[in-house]
Amino acid sequence: MIRIGQGYDVHRLVEGRELWLCGVKVAHNLGLDGHSDADVAIHALCDALLGALALGDIGKHFPDTDPAYKGIDSRKLLAHVCALVASHGYRLGNADVTIMAQRPRLAPYIEEMRRSLAEVTVSDTSRISVKATTTERLGFEGREEGISASAVVLLCSTT
Ligand code: MG
Repeated sequence: MIRIGQGYDVHRLVEGRELWLCGVKVAHNLGLDGHSDADVAIHALCDALLGALALGDIGKHFPDTDPAYKGIDSRKLLAHVCALVASHGYRLGNADVTIMAQRPRLAPYIEEMRRSLAEVTVSDTSRISVKATTTERLGFEGREEGISASAVVLLCSTT
């Protein structure tokens, strides 16, 4: 038995916030705004994992009205989602994450991002793909108003 899931998320870029992507702190003059650390890539991955099992979305599991999640490290949310996946009898087959950002250049961070996601999902890095692209200065990502991320996952039954 296999299950497929996809996730998508957007956060606004603002001054005075740190930029966290895939659990890695990225050096930039802007950061993503949000109730949590606003790690848009991890949020997309969480939604893909939840989607694969038709368990709703990240907003249902971690409401942004709940003070418990204010400023939370999104790796904790991902770890919680992974535990949920395991409790439903599935494990991550592979994940493919794409980050859409005009700036900063993310290529130097990609391997660290893969390792970060592999660690939290207790997977081998060979199962975790992270890619980044600009949008050729088009759209909100291109205007540097925000960063978006999409993710797809395949889950395999453990039973
Ligand atoms: Mg989000």
